[in-house]
Amino acid sequence: GLTAGIVGLPNVGKSTLFNAITQAGAESANYPFCTIDPNVGIVEVPDERLNKLTELVKPKKTVPTAFEFTDIAGIVKGASKGEGLGNKFLSHIRQVDAICHVVRCFADDEITHVAGKVDPIADIETINLELILADLETVDKRIDRVGKLAKQKDKDAALEYEVLVKLKEAFEQGKMARTIEFTEEQMKIVKHLHLLTIKPMLYVANVGEEDIVDPSGNEYVQQVREYAKNDNAEVIVICAKIEAEIAELDGEEKKMFLEELGIKESGLDQLIKAAYSLLGLATYFTAGEQEVRAWTFKKGMKAPQCAGIIHSDFERGFIRAETVSFEDLLAAGSMQAAREAGKVRLEGKDYVVQDGDIMHFRFNV
Ligand code: GDP
Repeated sequence: GLTAGIVGLPNVGKSTLFNAITQAGAESANYPFCTIDPNVGIVEVPDERLNKLTELVKPKKTVPTAFEFTDIAGIVKGASKGEGLGNKFLSHIRQVDAICHVVRCFADDEITHVAGKVDPIADIETINLELILADLETVDKRIDRVGKLAKQKDKDAALEYEVLVKLKEAFEQGKMARTIEFTEEQMKIVKHLHLLTIKPMLYVANVGEEDIVDPSGNEYVQQVREYAKNDNAEVIVICAKIEAEIAELDGEEKKMFLEELGIKESGLDQLIKAAYSLLGLATYFTAGEQEVRAWTFKKGMKAPQCAGIIHSDFERGFIRAETVSFEDLLAAGSMQAAREAGKVRLEGKDYVVQDGDIMHFRFNV
């Protein structure tokens, strides 16, 4: 599956956050396909719709969909020129599909800051610079190869060369690849380069307990928000320390604790949702008396592919899908009523599944 990597400088709260993630962890028995690795934390994706469906259908069992975070340890500074740990850091980032960049926004004299003071923008730039330098190296290598061919009027090479030069200029100005605009044709070339700075990124501003209800007074958070605007990135505010406490509570306790704090949704839940959508993921549901279940698919996937997520036989033998949107089902009140209202459609192999669809697949074995 797709995974989001957690990165950040030392002492910003990564381990605290990652512990909260594994503590909150999904019941792994439900997710036999997920990775078993100490650096991977599997979380359930919070979804109000799944609760509503459960009330409606009253199944024996409800299974949320899950999502993986990868803890990316390693030395950050100098990674792009370094060997060993630094290289490892970059190669781990290469393997994830999106980056959650944890930034220290809490002041605490007891906790050493690697750079001597809390300065979120400097921290962000330290890591981003390593990513940019690594990408610059990738592009330079490619320019060496393609440059000559481009001069010999090789059309494909010329096209790639143009893209490489555009990237190189941007990197030299400290820009990330994802902030640059490309045509569709150019984008295909960019994808082949497997750049680090093309990956979607979100900043996780880690604030102190005192700022969790209203972070607007935290100047560091304001700085990160301002920075992220120019960077095509989102910002989520959390307090890793509180998240670690929340993660130890079960459903009811958690609700009460959040109410006491005066917040609607835990920072971790917000982070899970944001990372999920950052990866272009969406959810469809299956709803039977035995089980109501949420499934993750990639936006744009068609019905047979989505069926294949449940079982490869479903994809191979796909005939058609019976489907109704979550809103229509909720409005109708039951599957039967939705059917009578003509809201349940029969869709074929070209149907692009939508977020919130309730799917019933018909297939040949
Ligand atoms: P890492 O090196 O990035 O993995 O950072 P850690 O998770 O080990 O955190 C470093 C220190 O900061 C630890 O002593 C944590 O208890 C502390 N810390 C982490 N998050 C918070 C927070 O939200 N508020 C405060 N006050 N301290 C925190």
